[in-house]
Amino acid sequence: MLEVRDLTKTFGSYTAVDEVSFTIPDGKILGLIGQNGAGKTTTFRLILDFLTMDKGTILWNGEPITEKVYNTIGYLPEERGLYPKQTVESQLLYFAELRGKKKTEILPKIDEWMEKFQVKGKKTDKVKSLSKGNQQKVQLIATLIHEPKLVILDEPFSGLDPVNAELLKDGIIELKKKGACVIFSSHNMDNVEKICDDLVMLKDGKMVLNGPVQEIRESFGRTKLFLETPMSVEEFSEISGVTGALLREDGVTELTLENAEVGKEIFDLVTENGYITMFNQQPPTLEEIFKLKAGETHE
Ligand code: ATP
Repeated sequence: MLEVRDLTKTFGSYTAVDEVSFTIPDGKILGLIGQNGAGKTTTFRLILDFLTMDKGTILWNGEPITEKVYNTIGYLPEERGLYPKQTVESQLLYFAELRGKKKTEILPKIDEWMEKFQVKGKKTDKVKSLSKGNQQKVQLIATLIHEPKLVILDEPFSGLDPVNAELLKDGIIELKKKGACVIFSSHNMDNVEKICDDLVMLKDGKMVLNGPVQEIRESFGRTKLFLETPMSVEEFSEISGVTGALLREDGVTELTLENAEVGKEIFDLVTENGYITMFNQQPPTLEEIFKLKAGETHE
């Protein structure tokens, strides 16, 4: 279990991380989200002791992190760094040895991991001959091949196509099942929504949201309504309490409500003549919550 309490870091007069606290129990995944410059990488660097905190406590299984634990953390840095002239195999062995693993322990696992992440290339290929996405997969393998108990991934999904993002999601879920604590940062709310147990949202170094993903969504109220109905967007727009209405390409009408109660009124209205094929009232998506909290759109 990783516990972070009141973590604070200043650079000159700027507070990059401001009293950030969260806990990741074993077998749980925490998503760290926030706009560029929100303090995500700094938080990771503080956990890893690459930076010295001004204030705070970081505990691994109830104790301060020891040198031995640092060596076993699976860390994927934001700046990817592989040695282009080395082969995939020698690269993976090099990183594993840095983490105190024996060659004989890692060698038999390389094929399995390359298969798991479907790396297009051979282990005898030079890193530079692989495409960017495949190089990223090699770096992910280097992060995970020693099956770390604490995994810190800085923007692991960036640069991966949807198919490879799915492979990575499966890989992260597998780590969770094996009892690892996983924390990753992401700009893609969909990934966070699908695989994280908890999330922390940072804004200007401060936590603006912290808790279980579904609870956070529900706390915003079921203010999104998805309908299949002959009623027009114009008709919905005239109803008081409807703050947004649009007809999607797939024929679904999407309404934004002032509060969840308005949904009941609309239900009565659209079912006046009986059965309708879709009435689905949902809390806002994480993407919408992110925009609301961050105050502007992101990439
Ligand atoms: P991104 O999504 O762009 O990677 P981030 O959330 O990871 O952003 P950080 O890299 O943690 O953000 O940066 C937080 C703030 O701290 C930024 O304003 C950044 O300029 C500042 N900062 C980070 N490292 C340093 C440093 N070594 N010296 C001075 N300021 C720094």
